[in-house]
Amino acid sequence: MDGVSGREGPVFNPATGRQMRSVPLAAEADVESAIESARAAAAEWSRFSSAARSKLLFRFRNAVEENAAALASLVTEEHGKVMSDAHGEISRGLECIEYACNVGDLLSGSFSNQAASGVDVHSVRRPLGVVAGITPFNFPVMVPLWMIPNAVACGNAFILKPSEKAPSAALLLADLFYQAGFPDGVLNVVHGDRQAVGHLLEHPSIDAVSFVGSTPVARQIHRTASSHGKRVQALGGAKNHMIVLPDADIDLAADAAVSAGFGSAGQRCMAVSVVVAVGSSADRLVEAIAVRTGKISIGEGTAPDSEMGPLITLEHRDRVASYIGAAESDGARVVLDGRVASLPKDGFFLGCTLLDDVKPDMSVYVDEVFGPVLSVVRVDTYDDALALLRASPYGNGVALFTRDGGAARNFTDEVEVGMVGINVPIPVPVAHHSFGGWKDSLFGDTHMYGPEGIRFYTRGQVVTTRWLSPKSSSVDLGFPSGD
Ligand code: NAD
Repeated sequence: MDGVSGREGPVFNPATGRQMRSVPLAAEADVESAIESARAAAAEWSRFSSAARSKLLFRFRNAVEENAAALASLVTEEHGKVMSDAHGEISRGLECIEYACNVGDLLSGSFSNQAASGVDVHSVRRPLGVVAGITPFNFPVMVPLWMIPNAVACGNAFILKPSEKAPSAALLLADLFYQAGFPDGVLNVVHGDRQAVGHLLEHPSIDAVSFVGSTPVARQIHRTASSHGKRVQALGGAKNHMIVLPDADIDLAADAAVSAGFGSAGQRCMAVSVVVAVGSSADRLVEAIAVRTGKISIGEGTAPDSEMGPLITLEHRDRVASYIGAAESDGARVVLDGRVASLPKDGFFLGCTLLDDVKPDMSVYVDEVFGPVLSVVRVDTYDDALALLRASPYGNGVALFTRDGGAARNFTDEVEVGMVGINVPIPVPVAHHSFGGWKDSLFGDTHMYGPEGIRFYTRGQVVTTRWLSPKSSSVDLGFPSGD
């Protein structure tokens, strides 16, 4: 329904640069109605059997799959990513629903028979109540599906506050959710900006907050929601490195750097932003990356031959471009310059940029650029590469390319990063492992989806029970003696 605030935000098609629609930005009263709706649903929903919840999740999974084309169109229209990327995020979201369908098993507790004489102990996990999820623009379907299936599978009601820059897919997801047969109020969508978020973070009826977005906002969300007594997981930004050792398969590494650096125009939290070329790998690698990058076809996400679309807003496009200028003035070598690429005339497009000889004190190295800019840092040794990673405040994803199993094994032991790929550039865990970075890429201690998601959306309860067995009972229960 329309909100009462009267405030609206523009929603653009980044491929044309034109505003397509407006999104209402919720006022406090709108957030309040969503919270009331969720609160009213939570108690009854928590009493649904796990078998019933599972059945509804199966139906929701099928509805999302059947409507994948419509969801992908909305994602491409509002985000700009190419259709194959939009379908890719839906597939990853489906995996998360599939994981949650197994809720009966995921919530099975443990039982200790005869822990003391006549005493049994069992552990169960109970829902929290009402959970809020605040999500970024760059995965309008997948990130909400990191949260919603597990949260509702555990018996919670959920309030989603999607990004105001790409809001429409969330509404279609909610439609599909209710078409699957979930009771009213179990999922609620509130459109809005920081004002709506502020109210969610402080409201006493919200029990937990899942957030995914940039580091400064994640830090603030964690601090505010925690200070209001809520359980919080806040996933932040990233600066992912890909380290290429001299023995690596250079073609494989170059393919990986190009797809992980420029896929979705670099607007992924697991995008590779920095390639660290160790020793003699550098010249061969930069050349191989340049050749491949030059062939990327840039255009509207809906065009079948497009491999990379535009950036999300004009301001963001200009901000990303400014990093290229700054790097050039600071002495980096501009191998390919996205600012002068041949691009569609309208829309928020920027070509692919490859920078060589980037140094760790340059702003393009320090900041999360979140665009199609790949920086190459040259170092002499593996230890130098490791030192770079250690100095980074981020710890989301990292990749190592090598043919040396021993080096790879040491690397996974030594690196302080939450998700590590060995000859895999974007090591996003499958749905039965959890997703999360370290350091400034995550505030709170629980990773998202998978087993840690189930743990986050539940609290433990231990029940200690004493029933005297017939044998030791002094009461005559009528059992035959001698058994
Ligand atoms: P963002 O932090 O600007 O916004 C994320 C959400 O927070 C949106 O719903 C937005 O409305 C809300 N928000 C923004 N500013 C706020 C404020 N001051 N107070 C309260 N709420 C606020 O992020 P974005 O630009 O939408 O997404 C890109 C960022 O998200 C990048 O930094 C990227 O690395 C990160 N990201 C991280 C992951 C991860 O798993 N770690 C995944 C995807 C994206």
